[in-house]
Amino acid sequence: MGVRLRGVEKVFEGGVKALRAIDLEIGEGEFVSVLGPSGCGKSTLLRIVAGLEWASFGEVEVGERGPHPNPLPAYGQRGHEKRATQVSPLQERGSRVAFVFQDAHLLPWRNVIRNVMLPLELLGWDRARTRAAAGDALSQVGLSDALDRYPAQLSGGMRMRVSLARALVTEPALLLLDEPFAALDEITRQRLDEQLRALWKARAMTVIFVTHSISEAAYLSQRAIVMSKRPGKVLLDHRVELPAERPARLRGEASFASEMRTLFDALERGEA
Ligand code: ADP
Ligand code: MG
Repeated sequence: MGVRLRGVEKVFEGGVKALRAIDLEIGEGEFVSVLGPSGCGKSTLLRIVAGLEWASFGEVEVGERGPHPNPLPAYGQRGHEKRATQVSPLQERGSRVAFVFQDAHLLPWRNVIRNVMLPLELLGWDRARTRAAAGDALSQVGLSDALDRYPAQLSGGMRMRVSLARALVTEPALLLLDEPFAALDEITRQRLDEQLRALWKARAMTVIFVTHSISEAAYLSQRAIVMSKRPGKVLLDHRVELPAERPARLRGEASFASEMRTLFDALERGEA
């Protein structure tokens, strides 16, 4: 599922300007990382793409549809927001868009498999099909042995993998991740990065991955977007020149260091 933003700005009520003049086109099946200093508007950008937040100005297009001809009345009436057009808010996009947050947000009273079954239950799938699909998603993140455990019995990395499985179970065409592995230790994070990349390669899905880790952005993505400090704008739109096969040892190679340097320099410029 492709994403296109044109001239997107976000001004929060109270006047905080979070985003300015964001032009961004993401093709179907791309893996794009978004990097930027804390508070520069990365989460806001992702939430706008998800339809969880409105742009104040500009156009947002997600998926196949053309721009919505008439802004929805609820936000057409909201002062400064009336010049924005937003195509297909989340409820219309249905299960085609999935979001993974920094916290796993699991339901503590449901075991692992029942947490992953939840999105399909909400879509009204029957129980047998739901269970099979959830079991499948959990095996893809290497958690087949933990189906009956409860969130409190899992490590941080395992909780995040459950969260990832819950996002994947609906087979989204667009997967949005907001610093999902930021709270994990480095080894666990690298394993999850590898797993996520493998999952992306196995599926035809577009991924937008927000992170403040330069090495994570370089390792994971085909393309890295670096944003300036608030109000965030795109400072660098960079094609990551690394092979499609990315074994763990790639992180120690000169080509990897050079990619990191490019991203680091742009980030440093953005802080200035
Ligand atoms: P990032 O994810 O890059 O750290 P955010 O997108 O969360 O940044 O926030 C960008 C800026 O917008 C920050 O200054 C933040 O305080 C502000 N902000 C975020 N959400 C709101 C909101 N609902 N109301 C007002 N200001 C907000
Ligand atoms: Mg954020």
